[in-house]
Amino acid sequence: SADKEKTNSVAKIKVVVRKRPLNKKEIAKKEEDIITIDSGSSSLTVHEMKLKASLVDLTEYLEKHEFVFDSVLDEDVSNDETFYVYTRYMGKLWSRLFLLYSSVQKQLALPMVKQASTGSGKTYTMQPLPLKACQDILRLMHHTYIYQGFQLYVSFFEIYGGKLFDLLNDRRKLCMREDGKQQVCIVGLQEFRVSNVDSIRELIEKGNASRSTGTTGANEESSRSHAILQLAIKRSVVGRESKPARIVGKLSFIDLAGSERGADTTDNDKQTRIEGAEINKSLLALKECIRALDNDQVHIPFRGSKLTEVLRDSFVGDSRTVMISCISPNSGSCEHTLNTLRYADRVK
Ligand code: ADP
Ligand code: MG
Repeated sequence: SADKEKTNSVAKIKVVVRKRPLNKKEIAKKEEDIITIDSGSSSLTVHEMKLKASLVDLTEYLEKHEFVFDSVLDEDVSNDETFYVYTRYMGKLWSRLFLLYSSVQKQLALPMVKQASTGSGKTYTMQPLPLKACQDILRLMHHTYIYQGFQLYVSFFEIYGGKLFDLLNDRRKLCMREDGKQQVCIVGLQEFRVSNVDSIRELIEKGNASRSTGTTGANEESSRSHAILQLAIKRSVVGRESKPARIVGKLSFIDLAGSERGADTTDNDKQTRIEGAEINKSLLALKECIRALDNDQVHIPFRGSKLTEVLRDSFVGDSRTVMISCISPNSGSCEHTLNTLRYADRVK
């Protein structure tokens, strides 16, 4: 990927990793923070504790895994700063695609403690981003003469088990069609025109509330589905307002299911395993599409999964992708953190 950077000055994808701080529960369990970050060199090191067995005893030793990304955000980086990194990589905001990839830490082996999810920060990172983007877009529209006639629309849907559901319309099942021009059309998807930040906040909350909880219980929350929030900027020609407005740009905010959840095939529950297989398939397909695009391949394997099919028109042309991988700092999440980082590293 370092070579890619040299030959292709405007990389289509930027990979960002964000670390959250240790939480109270982890501190109470005296878990250690195993992630060190050097923001200057955008590198991150995982200090994995390993055991070596000999005939006489067990010895502990540390194994270091170093990764370099486009940007590495330490635990004290705020959501505002995260948004700034996003806009910096997206350049011209409304022609860009935004993608959020996240990992959810595994539940520690404490069968009695099945409490709140101790996620890696996906929702925390995800919720404010489309809101902040809307704020910027609306401000531009309201205060800049050349944006007269521009309108902002929101839609929000979920891919769960390979099927599409409208999160702003009672989880109505949706299907996808391609028009002759290879534009993706999701039949029946509700779109809402928004003109202020409060109304988009309401829509996001409504959509989040109707997300799938999965079959494994409430504390898994939405980690087994992909949620896609799209902002479409449309424009009607002045004097011809009766004609349908034309899309001039689209931003997609994607809350991806965690890869390590997908990889969790040891689960005995059949439905959980089916969900896991679907997640693996779509994350793999996503990775393959991104690689094919970066190598300027003619054939892009969009058909690899529902997720990549849906995103098809966001990948082509002048699109950009920012992937933010969220990681937990604690030793108990080491394996999942390494899985997440290896995935992010291969996308890079
Ligand atoms: P996920 O969506 O990946 O399951 P959440 O976003 O729900 O995880 O985060 C789990 C908990 O950690 C929440 O209580 C959240 O407020 C907290 N958290 C996550 N990321 C950060 C961060 N960067 N800084 C401070 N707290 C965070
Ligand atoms: Mg969450």
